[in-house]
Amino acid sequence: MYEEEDIVPGLLELIESEFDERTYNSEKLKNALKLLKNKQANYKTANEFAIEIGEILSDVLNVHVTSEVLPGGKMHFNIADRVMNVTLKKNHELIASFAKDVQTELNHQAGLKLKGQKAPLNQDRIDGLVDKLSNADSFEDVKWLLDEPIINFSQSIIDSTVKENVEFHAKAGLKPKINRVARFECCEWCQRLQGIYDYKNAPDDVYKRHRRCRCNVEYDPQKGKVQDVWSKQWIDPMAETKKILRQSLNSKK
Ligand SMILES: [Zn+2]
Repeated sequence: MYEEEDIVPGLLELIESEFDERTYNSEKLKNALKLLKNKQANYKTANEFAIEIGEILSDVLNVHVTSEVLPGGKMHFNIADRVMNVTLKKNHELIASFAKDVQTELNHQAGLKLKGQKAPLNQDRIDGLVDKLSNADSFEDVKWLLDEPIINFSQSIIDSTVKENVEFHAKAGLKPKINRVARFECCEWCQRLQGIYDYKNAPDDVYKRHRRCRCNVEYDPQKGKVQDVWSKQWIDPMAETKKILRQSLNSKK
């Protein structure tokens, strides 16, 4: 055994400064933030935001994490663990916060005074990536894990935000509907899965995302007409009575 220099602090500094610069200058991210500010952002915006963040992180990792810089051309556990946890937690924080703000805005537009719920961090997925990266004898065999799986991880934060908010609204007595939209003629499986589902009847697969899937999972409280349920219960408790009165008046004509 010989002492090796710890490459992680220097590596992380390079990765983080380049990531910050690229995200700061991204037109796609600027546009998404502008839409949010103008109250025009929706889950399509959030999904695009996630893909862009994921692509930038994937690019930056690919530039700096290479066989040449890794001792023995292997991504040892103590390197993979720190690099992936730091970068993916930041990735999660950025995307989950944006998606939460989008949901808050959608809630307000639907007349709901509810804050958006934030997606929890999927630590299992990070751990899984760290294991796969560090179990391989050669980094070359597993470097693909820094491509599509990073983007997939990023998009799944949006899917998870939908799930959190749909469940939260269902508990609040609303009747949320999940909308799955197949994009770019993704694949047969996704084409079959697309559609609008009642929260209660939605298939488990509605939140699932295979490799390279760019489909959208969306939740807009307006689409579930929750405002009707809401207004009957909270804003206009007399609506039902008025309707019955109107009907009986009409029948007397
Ligand atoms: Zn798909």
